[in-house]
Amino acid sequence: MRAAAVWPGAVRAAGARSLESRLVTSPTPTIGVLALQGDVREHVGALEACGAVGVPVRRPAELAAVSGIVIPGGESTTIDKLLRAFDLFEPLRAAIRSGLPAFGSCAGMILLADRLTGGTADQQTLGGLDITVRRNAFGRQVDSFETDLVVEGVEDSGAQPVHAVFIRAPWVEEVGQDVRVLARVEAGEAAGRIVAVRERDVLATSFHPEITGDLRLHRLFVQIVTERG
Ligand code: GLN
Repeated sequence: MRAAAVWPGAVRAAGARSLESRLVTSPTPTIGVLALQGDVREHVGALEACGAVGVPVRRPAELAAVSGIVIPGGESTTIDKLLRAFDLFEPLRAAIRSGLPAFGSCAGMILLADRLTGGTADQQTLGGLDITVRRNAFGRQVDSFETDLVVEGVEDSGAQPVHAVFIRAPWVEEVGQDVRVLARVEAGEAAGRIVAVRERDVLATSFHPEITGDLRLHRLFVQIVTERG
C-alpha cells in the first residue's frame, strides 16, 4: 500500500498543512487512464508521481473501480470509435455526467466538450464541459508548437510558467457561464485563444502536460479527485 509512503507530491501539495496531517486525511486515490490510444503510460506515470494509483481503463468494470479518469490525446475520431467498440462510450458518458472527475488533454478535451466544430460528420463527444471546441484549430502553419502559459490553479505558474506542447491541438471557442477559463495563449497569432478550462471537477487542456515532466497539472487533477473524496 502506498498510503504510508512519503511521496514528493505530498510534501509540495501539503502547503501550510503538515505532511503528517495530509497523509492522514488524504487517502491515495485510484485514477484511471483511458487506454485506447495515446500517451497512456506517460499519464499513469505522472499520476503515480503525484501520489495517486494510476490504472489503465479499457473495460466498464475497470471504469467502475476508479475515482477519476484521464482521457489522453490521440485522434478524437479514433478514440470515439474505439469507445464504442469497447462498450465504454455510454458508461463513461454516464459516469462523467454523474460527477466522475475527468481530465482531458488535446483529443481528450475534444471528447469532453459538449459541442464540437470541425469534427467529422459522424463524430460524437462524451460531453461534460459546457464548451464549444474547435478541432485542429491552430491551422497548418502552426500544427505543432510550444509556448509558456500561466495556468490558473497551477501552483507558481506566474513565476514558473507551464511549458505547453500543442500537437494538432483544439482550442475552446465558447464557454458556458459555469466554466472557468484557466489559460489563454499569450502571444503570437493565436494570442487570446482559450487552451485550459475547468467546470466543476472536469479539467481540460489543449496541450499535453504528460510529455514535459511538469507534474503540476496532474497534481491539480489528483487534488480535485482527492478533495471530492
Ligand atoms: N487533432 C487531434 C484530434 O482531432 C487531436 C490531437 C492530439 O490529441 N494531439 O483528435
